[in-house]
Amino acid sequence: MRRFCLVLSVALFGLVSAHAHADARLNVVASFSILGDFVRQVGGDKVNVTTLVGPDSDVHVYTPTPHDAKDVAEARLLVVNGLGLEGWLPRLLQASGAKARIVTVTQGITPRKRGADADPHAWQSVKNAMIYVTDIRDALVAADAADADTFKRNADRYLAELDGLDREVRAEIEKIPPERRKVISTHDAFGYFADAYGVEFIAPLGVSTETEPSARDLAGIILQIKRAQIPAVFLENFNDDRLISRIAAETGAKVGGTLYSDALSEENGPAPTYIAMVRHNIKALTSALGR
Ligand code: ZN
Repeated sequence: MRRFCLVLSVALFGLVSAHAHADARLNVVASFSILGDFVRQVGGDKVNVTTLVGPDSDVHVYTPTPHDAKDVAEARLLVVNGLGLEGWLPRLLQASGAKARIVTVTQGITPRKRGADADPHAWQSVKNAMIYVTDIRDALVAADAADADTFKRNADRYLAELDGLDREVRAEIEKIPPERRKVISTHDAFGYFADAYGVEFIAPLGVSTETEPSARDLAGIILQIKRAQIPAVFLENFNDDRLISRIAAETGAKVGGTLYSDALSEENGPAPTYIAMVRHNIKALTSALGR
């Protein structure tokens, strides 16, 4: 009987360790889709990445689910942006009893001010994204030393791609005549992009970004575009095509497409990765602002 038990426990031990091996990937939770992509690029098949706020979703106003609490509780690393982006996070941490190490990827960047607060959208500068990726690499290496070489190799490759992307954005903006490097946008997310690459993003005067504009709003915007000679507008929450064609007809401004700021698109959309997102935005900008 003793012998049988020994055999059984050896067999069980074999099963358990085989299972542990299959599950050896590091559990990492990222707060939103852009950070999830960064973790995936660096972690490759050594990490199991869960993203709390998925594609096409608003990270500012998220309500965590019980499932999120479970994911966070099981995570070894939790990658967050910080600078006030994830206002919903403290309660989630408390509810989940998380033991994960928290990596705040904006720690190494210089935040820009927006009123009294810091502007959280630092990833819109590709150089900042490179700092994010470096922080993620270091955190993965610290959490899983056995796979350090893989993380460093993946990070080197990806950082080189991002460096190329940064030069690509500069080269594309260079092609736009300097006096045309300005747009009206209802997004407030492009401050770091504006600072890094020299395109001015101007908010439409007196227009709420929450509601459809009134006739008076429209007259104000038309005047603003004419006065400041703004060549293009990105007014994504204006759902009335007639308003948009009136702006275009009366001002000659081009109406741009969608700019992705705070979330990636779904896999089959135009911005399923960070690099695809930046390329999509730069194409939308240059085609609206170029002559
Ligand atoms: Zn935002």
